[in-house]
Amino acid sequence: MPRRLFPATPSKLATFSDCPRRYRFAYVDRPTPPRGPAWAHNSIGAAVHAALRSWWELPVPRRTAGAARQLLYTAWSPAGFRDAEQSDRWRARAAGWLTEYVAGLDPADEPVGTERQVAATTERLALSGRIDRIDQRGDELVVVDYKTGRSVCTDDEARGSAALAAYVLGVRRTLRRPCRRVELHHLPSGTVAAFEHTDRSLANHVRRAEDVAADIGAATAALAEGRSPDDAFPATPGRQCGWCDFRPSCPTGQAATPARETWSFLADEA
Ligand code: SF4
Repeated sequence: MPRRLFPATPSKLATFSDCPRRYRFAYVDRPTPPRGPAWAHNSIGAAVHAALRSWWELPVPRRTAGAARQLLYTAWSPAGFRDAEQSDRWRARAAGWLTEYVAGLDPADEPVGTERQVAATTERLALSGRIDRIDQRGDELVVVDYKTGRSVCTDDEARGSAALAAYVLGVRRTLRRPCRRVELHHLPSGTVAAFEHTDRSLANHVRRAEDVAADIGAATAALAEGRSPDDAFPATPGRQCGWCDFRPSCPTGQAATPARETWSFLADEA
């Protein structure tokens, strides 16, 4: 019998690596336990991503900086901010990032895809994911990931990102075109971090992803065989419990560290 492939997204694998209990809450327990409140930095990221996706959907002559600002305002959510004043201030700040970012783009340089779903299989995994943007550069396709966090991205981050490696495999498989370069476009600093994957670097990422999937399989089997959920999917308490979405359902995480304010990941606001 052929081996059944484990269906995985980069975030699913990362969730288990961070904390098996969090994985259980997100992907195993049904109904899903209640999640904590929304985060301001996620609201910013969602609005910027939505604005850029919509900007590329406009006719070329309408792809202007003003249109990008307008799209951001339409997509904006105040969820997670301390108050309306803070939300408005960050909306203006994000609009400034977008204005500068689209000024550096050629509106006529049509991407191959935006928010494009791709998939690939390995010996043990059925990987899938959604890519912010796929560019054509010469004969090759490039994976572009937008970032809006407070830290400037580094080339090491681009090299070490399991998600970006999975996207390269997905582009190759789904679009059947050469692809090895991945880029992190950090809008707040206007910088780009990049890495060019080799067969070896991709193989290393695949091996690590398959190891995580094997651990998930073992935990799932242990649960099915009657182990307690907390044994099969142990908690990994730490600093991350301060911002874990499932903290309200996790006494271990509550005891490990205080909850962070939902706007505390914004630069200069903690
Ligand atoms: S609060 Fe901490 S220990 Fe609990 S699920 Fe989240 S990350 Fe894991």
